[in-house]
Amino acid sequence: MKKKRNIVIKDPTLKRLRNNLRMILRKWASAQWNKLHEEQDKILLDESKFETFRNLERKKQEIRKIVEDSICECSLCSAPDKDMTYNPVRKEWYCVDCYKDLQDYYKNKKESVLFP
Ligand SMILES: [Zn+2]
Repeated sequence: MKKKRNIVIKDPTLKRLRNNLRMILRKWASAQWNKLHEEQDKILLDESKFETFRNLERKKQEIRKIVEDSICECSLCSAPDKDMTYNPVRKEWYCVDCYKDLQDYYKNKKESVLFP
């Protein structure tokens, strides 16, 4: 996505549906992450499984990145239930409140280009 974009939902039913879908993705990610972490715990002290341990760590990071890069939570406050703004410079989603705060904070500073 190349443009700044606001995703605002006003209808309460659609808002609830959106929040539930976000919750499903977050719960899936959390369950996957926990499963990988438990696998790591089993081989933690086994030096011969070091490469397996590292692969599990990479998979955990990938899962975390799926959630971080998605619209499912704000990149700053992690809120999962707010309207979101896409920042094309940072390629991240922020809740509209955090985005506005960041815009205000960087206003008249050279970093203002980071939050158009
Ligand atoms: Zn936020």
